[in-house]
Amino acid sequence: MKSTLITGLAVVNELGDVVGDSVLVEEGLIAGIGPRSRFTGMYSLEYKFDGYIIPPIVDAHLHIRSLGLNIAGIDLRGVSSIEELKGKLRSFKLQQVGLVYGRGWDQELFKEQRWPTRWDIDDVVSDRPVVLLRVCGHAAVLNTKALEMTRPWELYPNLVHRQAGHITGLVLEDAVAYVIERLLKEVNIKPFIVQALEELSRSGIAGVSSMSCSEVEFRALEELASRAGMLPLRISCYPDYEKKCCLGGGVRGWVEIAGLKIYSDGSLGARTAYLREPYSDEPGSRGLLLADRRAIGRALTEARRLGLRLAIHAIGDGALDEVLEAAKATGVRGFRVEHASITWDEQLDALRELSAYAVVQPRFRVSDWWIDRRLGPRVRLAYRFKSMVRRGIRVALSSDAPVEPFNPNETIRAAMSECEQPSCFKEEALDIRNVLLAYTRVAAEASGGALAGSGVLEKGYHADFTVSRSNPLWDHVIEPLEVIVSGFRASDVFKYLF
Ligand SMILES: [Zn+2]
Repeated sequence: MKSTLITGLAVVNELGDVVGDSVLVEEGLIAGIGPRSRFTGMYSLEYKFDGYIIPPIVDAHLHIRSLGLNIAGIDLRGVSSIEELKGKLRSFKLQQVGLVYGRGWDQELFKEQRWPTRWDIDDVVSDRPVVLLRVCGHAAVLNTKALEMTRPWELYPNLVHRQAGHITGLVLEDAVAYVIERLLKEVNIKPFIVQALEELSRSGIAGVSSMSCSEVEFRALEELASRAGMLPLRISCYPDYEKKCCLGGGVRGWVEIAGLKIYSDGSLGARTAYLREPYSDEPGSRGLLLADRRAIGRALTEARRLGLRLAIHAIGDGALDEVLEAAKATGVRGFRVEHASITWDEQLDALRELSAYAVVQPRFRVSDWWIDRRLGPRVRLAYRFKSMVRRGIRVALSSDAPVEPFNPNETIRAAMSECEQPSCFKEEALDIRNVLLAYTRVAAEASGGALAGSGVLEKGYHADFTVSRSNPLWDHVIEPLEVIVSGFRASDVFKYLF
């Protein structure tokens, strides 16, 4: 049998214990862990690293397609005129991709004091579709080519801007997502996807849950995985519950539909997260309940019937009440609550009772610098990671990239409350051992699907590891040297993706 030995300065398992310096890999699985001398003569290939072999870092909630677009797209933040925007378009070349994508412009900053139009963009690019997202993501400007390809006026006549009867190229709200999805169907999005995977792998990430995964994204991943026989990281997809796309598809162990995603409320930033009591800075409003207990209950039952895990977006305490009632009524356990940003003690107890996963994004602590205005004294209820872990709730860490940076060190710092914003409570800080557990084994468990059997450094589990120059237990930081999946170096796997 062909075996590989992976050797480092030390092997640190998901509990933070040093268990040797070498891992023997057979058929993609861990066959043994211990001192290198124990494996003499048992392997034909050895990878030696001047770093620590740790369990695979798994980001349990991010968005691959948006991340790819963001990485490959033109950054238009801070652009101060339409002329400057045109200049950026001109200097941007992405020949391999048939779509020009940009994001971050804000017409308030333009010295022309007007919205950009399709004619502005046609001046620079007219042969390929162009879509440029406003900084908020709720508006976009398209060139004529992109408009002709997507014809958004047919479906969303009220969301397509007109001036003196002429379509200007500006589209709003639902029409934005629609045109992007349509354009991505027409062009080859694999370069976007591969770029996202490269960046993730380079930062030490060996697996992800891709939330609200679209059909286009899933098919691209599926095609990449079947061509190479594997991927540089394992991907568990959670398409939206209403769409239920791609069930039964994928490549086992590499890209799978692990569950479905449903939204029960919105966000704190937009005051659409659903609270028990009104917002402190908008006393007339409790936010928006997008799915009540009955709708959530139906989704829980349907997901169970399909053998899938339900991931329920619930940020406000009011939304979480609905989730908990739905779970009690249906008897479904082991579902995921995404964000669980505001929680009361009895809600945490109920989550524990239901064996639910809390899939949290510590980096929100940093971005929500205004959170005390929204919540007033209830800010004490925000991001209670330590309270969750102490109760025995299965807490999985994640970034929600591209909403937040996917760099694991950003997540680790925020999880350990190494920040100054109003919700960075020291008493809710996770210690590094719990961070490691939540970012590896529990994140893999919560992801399920392609990540089942990953995240644990024991015999019989997938030979998946992150290799870090520093020992995260001492330094609280990961300096990625390589990601190993099924005993292969991720950097080698990329060579076979195209
Ligand atoms: Zn998200």
